[in-house]
Amino acid sequence: MPDEHDPAPAGPPTGTALFDAVVNLCKRRGFVFPSAEIYGGIRSTYDYGPLGALMLRNVKEAWWRAMVQERDDVLPLDAAILTNPKVWEASGHLATFTDPLVDCRSCHERSRADHLEPDASGALVCPNCGSTDLTEARPFNLMFKTFVGPVEDEASVAYLRPETAQGMFVNFANVQTSMRRKPPFGIAQVGRSFRNEITPGNFVFRTREFEQMEMEYFVPPAESARWLEYWCTERLGWYRRYGIPEDRLRLRPHDTEELSHYSSATSDVEFAFPWGWGELEGIANRTDFDLKAHSEHSGVRLEYFDQSTGERYVPHVIEPAAGATRTMMAFLLAAYDEDEVGGERRVVLRLHPRLAPYQVAVLPLSRKEELAPLTAEVLAACRTRFVCERDETQSIGRRYRRQDEIGTPLCVTVDFESVTDRAVTVRDRDTTAQERVPVDALLGYLSERIGA
Ligand code: ATP
Repeated sequence: MPDEHDPAPAGPPTGTALFDAVVNLCKRRGFVFPSAEIYGGIRSTYDYGPLGALMLRNVKEAWWRAMVQERDDVLPLDAAILTNPKVWEASGHLATFTDPLVDCRSCHERSRADHLEPDASGALVCPNCGSTDLTEARPFNLMFKTFVGPVEDEASVAYLRPETAQGMFVNFANVQTSMRRKPPFGIAQVGRSFRNEITPGNFVFRTREFEQMEMEYFVPPAESARWLEYWCTERLGWYRRYGIPEDRLRLRPHDTEELSHYSSATSDVEFAFPWGWGELEGIANRTDFDLKAHSEHSGVRLEYFDQSTGERYVPHVIEPAAGATRTMMAFLLAAYDEDEVGGERRVVLRLHPRLAPYQVAVLPLSRKEELAPLTAEVLAACRTRFVCERDETQSIGRRYRRQDEIGTPLCVTVDFESVTDRAVTVRDRDTTAQERVPVDALLGYLSERIGA
């Protein structure tokens, strides 16, 4: 099995070349496809292919594991996407969830005014043609509007949710009383959100339909600053745990002008994208803004009453709000690498084993019938714990290269000796080192290598 690793790596591309390489790999290897491609697509909308669907699920699983499964104090929720429009009135989304929109009179490009660079005289410049002949900025609401039921009138207007957070606020009392919780405690949710973005782009960085991973952490008001700090540290640690290198990750506190209407302090977790720093997650102190607003609009008290002390208060909320699809893209960019193996250039996705679409590939050395029963046995055992792929076409070297390119951390090769000695070769994606492991010890070995 010629597969020698050259210690002098070729190094990954950077900037636009890295972006192009990852976008290209996503299409070629079944991670992400333009949506409805056979009809020419629909601008900046994407479908997740077999490997992308697996990886996106893993990103959400990794978040869920850290935010819900490994904790006592956070409860899950799965709220509806369509809800009473009064929710969006109370949250401020109907009045203020707008972007300032400008059109270029020369080339008709549409842009967000707050994304444009002014020239020396302070006039905004069209990023497409360089003209400064732009329309006045006008507000544009980002919520998708639809109608509930057969009649399309004002009374049946509803909106696709632009964030998952409000589902947690409107269910605060339901969750708190049914689960008998006392602050501090959190409610977490993963799900689709929709924003009619004016300028979607940069692949899946900004799309009109995307997935969010949000948690609302309800705390006694006096403790909110401490919990904001706690969640900033926790969340930064999560990105590091799953493989974003230190030098491509930063926490950026918002200055006062940048703060949202609901927030007293916010820090963004940012990743060094090929075009510059970009937000992966916003961690905000939302104070009591949301619970108070929903209390006022609904007439239902949303507060905590401590029976032991007789104390009554509206909890403050710390919200770590992350994007699953955007974060998946960051993980792909951070993992993409090129090096040399056996004198040949190889592409390797150095994904955390828990994020890789497949944790294990099982490769019979040949398609001969003789190897089939043991291959099936090994595969069935591995599938009890891992997502696995069986690959039996082409040379073993080519198959290793294919698995490297999609980030599979470990390949298990079944050869002719395996049939007699009941041992298989486990090959490591990053080092290409190979180790012989008895079939009966394989699951324990793989679990240890793959980790949590
Ligand atoms: P941006 O400034 O990039 O528009 P935002 O501050 O409006 O983002 P939040 O409302 O804080 O974003 O949403 C939380 C997270 O949801 C973001 O950090 C991002 O990861 C994700 N997200 C928001 N909008 C989009 C989008 N259009 N496409 C993909 N992910 C998104």
